[in-house]
Amino acid sequence: LEQNNTSADQSHFKIPDIKFTKLFINGEFVDSIKGQIDCLHKDVSSKTIGRTFDTVDPRTGEVIVRIAEGDKEDVDAAVKAAREAFDHGPWPRMSGFQRARIMLKFADLIEQNIEELAALDCIDAGKLFLWGKLVDIPFGARLLQYYAGAADKVHGEVLKSSRPLHAYTLKEPIGVVGHIIPWNFPTSNFFMKVAPALAAGCTMIVKPAEQTPLSALFHAHLAKQAGVPDGVLNVVTGFGHTAGAAVSSHMDIDMVSFTGSTEVGRLIMQAAATSNLKMVSLELGGKSPLIIFDDADVDKAAELALNGILFNKGEVCAASSRVYVQEGIYGEFEKKLIEKAKAWKLGDPFDPETRQGPQVDKKQFERILSYIDIGVKEGGTLLTGGKPWGSKGYYVEPTVFVDVKEDMQIARDEIFGPVLSLMKFKCTPKIRSCLRSVTCRTVEEAIERANNSKYGLAAGVLTKDMNVANRVSRSIRAGIIWINCYSSLDVGFPFGGYKMSGFGRELGLDGLHKYLQVKTVMTPLHDSPW
Ligand code: NAD
Repeated sequence: LEQNNTSADQSHFKIPDIKFTKLFINGEFVDSIKGQIDCLHKDVSSKTIGRTFDTVDPRTGEVIVRIAEGDKEDVDAAVKAAREAFDHGPWPRMSGFQRARIMLKFADLIEQNIEELAALDCIDAGKLFLWGKLVDIPFGARLLQYYAGAADKVHGEVLKSSRPLHAYTLKEPIGVVGHIIPWNFPTSNFFMKVAPALAAGCTMIVKPAEQTPLSALFHAHLAKQAGVPDGVLNVVTGFGHTAGAAVSSHMDIDMVSFTGSTEVGRLIMQAAATSNLKMVSLELGGKSPLIIFDDADVDKAAELALNGILFNKGEVCAASSRVYVQEGIYGEFEKKLIEKAKAWKLGDPFDPETRQGPQVDKKQFERILSYIDIGVKEGGTLLTGGKPWGSKGYYVEPTVFVDVKEDMQIARDEIFGPVLSLMKFKCTPKIRSCLRSVTCRTVEEAIERANNSKYGLAAGVLTKDMNVANRVSRSIRAGIIWINCYSSLDVGFPFGGYKMSGFGRELGLDGLHKYLQVKTVMTPLHDSPW
């Protein structure tokens, strides 16, 4: 591993000026209300500066800019605008086709600003610039295009009855939606929620993570340019316990769509229950297993396992943080994994050679290091990594633990960093097709251990034997199963969790239907008595 951080100059890309730092409410960038009240109280009424907070560059720990700090009053103003836009504005009343045209224009504008948006997510979240440019930001545009294509195909169905009744269902937009999003994929997470909700005809308030507000404000500006009517898409930047809590407990929000930690997901559900019983969709954490059978290609398996945990520096809900390898190839696999982990290039995320940038912030950096400490104290053995990397910023070395047992904290908790627990399961002779065979018992052991988690977001299985792959994929209690691949996503494939990884799905048509209400309409088939 290199010991010096590389320079951002290598990218030949100039870091853009930050253009948008205020809340976006009812089509305007505005200061936070509380800040203005503070100013009035201090008799500085001539200059109304809203309350603000720092957003920090994790490559250096330096402040990038100050961002408007929204709170309850600002959420109220945003909800008022979204409610007015829903109850009386054009958006829910337009045809799906009209909404689609505006969404496609919005997608074009994202595509025209790919480099600037990728740079914003790079300096705010430490994400790889090249990845943002080639994958993450284009995916935001792709989401708008996919759901634009579905906007004019939303319809109910005619119902059959044993009585002389004519009945049908209507699919209607749910209303005002509060989207609360995390920091690990600021652009993808934004559009995984905003694009289907726009297509459905909803109006909305987005509360981005406090660590990564920059791109969300830029998206709001582009939405306005594309012709999204005022009040339809509002962005309130700020903290979770203030602005986020105001969204989840608001009496005039019809649904909260949340992506984030399981702990906060629980608070969101409680707030929804004790306020207006708004609908809730939760995309939460994970501790995903990757099971590697002894017929897998060892080199490819090691590469896949490492990518599964180190992609986006491990700040991925579906990261392959528990890797189970069958005993027959375990030794060779371990050797390859360590070789590859040691060669993994850390550095400035603007450098095209870099494979891993800094963790999102100091808190996350310290949290990961404290988990590594816990792992060592619990009896885990560090095969590689375990330390901060470089002379500045929040980098953590790719870290592999062995001698891990399922009841250890590092095997149970979501660490959300580049820390992998490597475990072994038994090698037995190959006897196929009999349920009571030794091989079957081996598969059972792998399944049982993979399922031994409170989470159920994703799982992977690597084997040439499709009988084994099919058996594992049907037995694992998780929302996404990858066979002979890992971390692949498609805009049309539903994504979401079982167990404490949440409920509700994003992507695909399931991701659209959750923003729709079903209304049943019926009338007598023959002459009505009225
Ligand atoms: P987090 O739960 O701390 O924060 C997520 C969002 O919730 C932020 O916008 C935050 O400001 C807000 N929030 C915090 N406290 C709140 C409260 N009391 N009321 C309302 N809102 C509040 O999560 P994070 O640290 O930003 O993100 C990491 C977590 O997100 C991980 O657990 C990860 O697995 C999960 N995640 C899940 C998926 C998925 O699709 N399942 C995708 C990405 C991330």
